[in-house]
Amino acid sequence: MLKFYNTLSRKKEIFKPKKGKKVNLFVCGPTTYDFSHIGHARTYVVFDMIVKYLRQKGYDVFYLQNITDVDDKILNRAKKEKIFWKDLSRKFEREYLRDMKALNINSVTKYARATDYIKEIIGQVERLLKKGVAYQIRDGIYYNIKKFEDYGKLSKRTVLQAEDAVSRIDEAREKRNKGDFCLWKFSKPGEPKWASPFGEGRPGWHIEDTAITEKYFGSQYDIHGGARDLIFPHHEAEAAQMEAISGKKPLVKYWLHTGFLTVGGQKMAKSLGNFITIQDFLKKYPARLLRFFVIKTHYRSPIDYNEKLLLQTKKELERIDEFESRIKKISKIPFRQKTHDRENFTKMIFAKTEKEFEQSMDDDFNTPKAVAAIFKLVNTGNTKIAQNRISATDAKKILEFLKKIDKVFNFIFWKKPKEKIPENILKLVKEREKARKNKDWQLADEIRKKVKKLGYWIEDTKEGPKIKRL
Ligand SMILES: [Zn+2]
Repeated sequence: MLKFYNTLSRKKEIFKPKKGKKVNLFVCGPTTYDFSHIGHARTYVVFDMIVKYLRQKGYDVFYLQNITDVDDKILNRAKKEKIFWKDLSRKFEREYLRDMKALNINSVTKYARATDYIKEIIGQVERLLKKGVAYQIRDGIYYNIKKFEDYGKLSKRTVLQAEDAVSRIDEAREKRNKGDFCLWKFSKPGEPKWASPFGEGRPGWHIEDTAITEKYFGSQYDIHGGARDLIFPHHEAEAAQMEAISGKKPLVKYWLHTGFLTVGGQKMAKSLGNFITIQDFLKKYPARLLRFFVIKTHYRSPIDYNEKLLLQTKKELERIDEFESRIKKISKIPFRQKTHDRENFTKMIFAKTEKEFEQSMDDDFNTPKAVAAIFKLVNTGNTKIAQNRISATDAKKILEFLKKIDKVFNFIFWKKPKEKIPENILKLVKEREKARKNKDWQLADEIRKKVKKLGYWIEDTKEGPKIKRL
């Protein structure tokens, strides 16, 4: 039975979607003003893994993600760089989608840009005004948090405490309560603006999410995800907006939040020089390593990123790779079909691994335990291989199993990038082939040594020479 930790109740709960096997899930997407960093990657890898697991269990998941494409941060950076805000926003949207593709994050059903839902946003602000929950002052429309008695239920904060986390857009002297947040900001000269019944302006940050989710899911849905620093004020505001509008609660049945990712024990910040973008990471390491690095830790636990831990993770991944290639070889040996089946490896160990994997995943996506189950299989499997006790049938079953879990994890089978062999190496290999044809073994040997010095190894096979990087 699938259970997960709900931030709203602070408890693990049995997952029961609102309607049969249909799951509506929303995750806060990026604000497109800069490159995404590995902290963002963590959240998006986690929800990609969660959605893939739900789908594997037969749930029909609609995974919706917004893209905040108009915001103070975007306007400020565009101004600083003297470019049009929309060009900046689209540029970083493209970079974001490129990063997601590189990480094999392909489970999102729909990306929704805030500026494509202005009509829906205005509709929500209008209803909040009509209900007397929102009010207008000189610079915009604000939400009165005192008019919503459940305010603070998600973050467990009171109205009085609400003032500690308001962003710049929410600053205004005339506000009724310090924690009141902006729904619609009247635009200053030069800022982007849209016409509305209450004046030209642009949306506040929190309102875009509820406008988008109402459009696709209605006033209530199953799962809302995001990084834990979004619980307050962002997610609290979302619940306050939609529940005040619809009168139905809760807006979201299950709130799921990912833990922080720190670098060297500190929060990532450009000023500290520990800011690692996804693209910087991918210049040095393969994308699958980042996925494995994220998945081997429980999604709610903090991760402290450091090179030592990453190298250790890399070694672990190599152990899985080695096992996989051994098993693959065995699966192709026909004469091993009947070998030592008495041991019944598949039934004994393999079925146990399968069970352990599912039980761990069903328990609040306990991926560290699921990964441990994989390693148990690797260890036992390696011992059995050494004893010559794995049949081709067993090997095939193990491969199938690894492929099945990798549909969720996506860090084992990865299209290996074709390595480009430099021109000068190819030329030398050709010269060597010529020397071999002429039976000039000495020259052939010299060329091989030369190629080795340049970092490549030539292996002579029946199909011709194979070149490998050393
Ligand atoms: Zn959001």
